[in-house]
Amino acid sequence: MSFTGAFWRSGDVGFSDAALANIFNGRRPSRRPAAVLRAADAADVAAGVKLAAAEGWKLSVRSGGHSWAAWSLREDALLIDLGALNGMHYDAGTEIATVGPATRSGLDLDPFLATHGRFFAVGHHPTVSMGGFLLQGGMGLGCRGGGWAVESVESMDVVTASGELVRCSETENADLFWAARGSGPGFFGVVTELRLRTRPRHRSLIRSTYVYPAEVASEVLTWFHSVRRDVDPSVSFLAIGATPPGSDSPVVIIDGVSFDGGPSALAPLETCPVAGRALKSTAAQPTDMSALFAEQSAGSPAGLHYFVDNVYLVEEASDLVPALVAAFTDLPTPQSSVILSDFSPQASRALPDMAVSLRPDLYFAAYVAGRGPADDEKCRSWLDSAMNRLSAYSDGCYLGDSDFTVRPDRILSAAAWSRLQRIRAFRDPEGRFPGYLGTPVQ
Ligand SMILES: Cc1cc2nc3c(=O)[nH]c(=O)nc-3n(C[C@H](O)[C@H](O)[C@H](O)COP(=O)(O)OP(=O)(O)OC[C@H]3O[C@@H](n4cnc5c(N)ncnc54)[C@H](O)[C@@H]3O)c2cc1C
Repeated sequence: MSFTGAFWRSGDVGFSDAALANIFNGRRPSRRPAAVLRAADAADVAAGVKLAAAEGWKLSVRSGGHSWAAWSLREDALLIDLGALNGMHYDAGTEIATVGPATRSGLDLDPFLATHGRFFAVGHHPTVSMGGFLLQGGMGLGCRGGGWAVESVESMDVVTASGELVRCSETENADLFWAARGSGPGFFGVVTELRLRTRPRHRSLIRSTYVYPAEVASEVLTWFHSVRRDVDPSVSFLAIGATPPGSDSPVVIIDGVSFDGGPSALAPLETCPVAGRALKSTAAQPTDMSALFAEQSAGSPAGLHYFVDNVYLVEEASDLVPALVAAFTDLPTPQSSVILSDFSPQASRALPDMAVSLRPDLYFAAYVAGRGPADDEKCRSWLDSAMNRLSAYSDGCYLGDSDFTVRPDRILSAAAWSRLQRIRAFRDPEGRFPGYLGTPVQ
């Protein structure tokens, strides 16, 4: 079989680098594929799917390599690397952007759309790619009020498990389209192109940030829990636990970014009863997307050894806050951080009919990071203890920050899970795509 792109079998010169190319997490699993295809186009992908069937291999896919647990590395599989599929086109008539799955959030797509005065809810970190991000739902910029990024996908091109290139949308191959919007690494096809409905670009981004010492974490998080539902949906509103550069003490940061809501939308952030204890504050200052992306890059550099987990929380503050305070104020390394993000506006939004089916109200995620293997054990055991305490209040979790080989949780409603299994059995009867690594809770 010949490809326009490049192909390596295990043992070939260059195989090892090709197998690990673009993986963000410096902590690598020992799993390796049987072969790697760096596809040049959709025809290569279709040929790769057919080769895998002939060789008896499974199929794994990589767009940008940002899954924390390196899901694209599977044993006995042909890894199809879509890194070269990163084209972008904007049609002013339809306001639709057509992009390849390897298009990166803040390095490629956002600046491209800015030149057309348009916006799409890309991921917060500039190098997260559209393929994996959108298949999981996509917690993009402004998602607190704006919803899942994948809700704005109009259609996708998919190479199916039988090697056929098809378009899927609400009217064509609707079963595949339903599954592609939320099954993430459980999807059974290769997305080679996405058409995104864009919206007018925001006119202003205004931000308030308050940095509190760890001693008042309990008061700050209790207040966050009580005020969050009053904050306008145009504001992304979260609490962050992190250690500032040059310090060895974690702090609690309250952060609000208003998308066109103006300074008044940020007024509730000024009501914290311990506001006088803030070490630093900046209220209602203009910011821009490049500043937000730069901050994410600096906060989460590639190559560290990351351990990540998350949970959608439900409970009263009196129960939750003690478990949260421990996580916010006792971080295992200076590179580690946690976030608590309000999603309450999601509860009243109607969701389209798609695999994404849980409605987070409050989202906790921990990004535990060390400089190398020497930190691994400390990071792992810290995360396990934090998640043991918090998973008692779990209402499921987000695929994008999960690792079911360590802590299984629920990712879809029971009805959506059953429907996904039915579509999978029909679309991939031979189980060519291996599905989730570990088993989510059903
Ligand atoms: C630093 C960092 C910041 C992040 N920030 C955010 C954020 O703001 N919001 C958010 O929602 N998530 C975020 N994530 C999580 C991220 O969205 C997911 O890890 C996502 O899978 C990344 O997509 P990718 O294509 O880069 O990853 P990959 O590792 O390439 O893909 C992950 C898996 O998705 C599937 N997949 C990917 N592309 C395709 C395709 N074209 N066709 C079929 N299957 C495919 C495959 O199973 C693949 O193994 C972040 C991750 C990192 C590392």
